[in-house]
Amino acid sequence: MAHPKRKISKSRRDKRRTHYKATASTLTTCSNCGEIKLSHRACPSCGYYSGKSVFVPES
Ligand SMILES: [Zn+2]
Repeated sequence: MAHPKRKISKSRRDKRRTHYKATASTLTTCSNCGEIKLSHRACPSCGYYSGKSVFVPES
């Protein structure tokens, strides 16, 4: 198996990781109730996804 010849120093490893950063999740508004929700997820407040009720929220 291919194998690195030398250990990458902590400095080089950490410099590479400076590009790793958290991205803000994409938020959209629900087309049924207008609440803010995650895109590609069912709405947590009304349970609708793609114009249909996929679950009935509790309380
Ligand atoms: Zn909704």
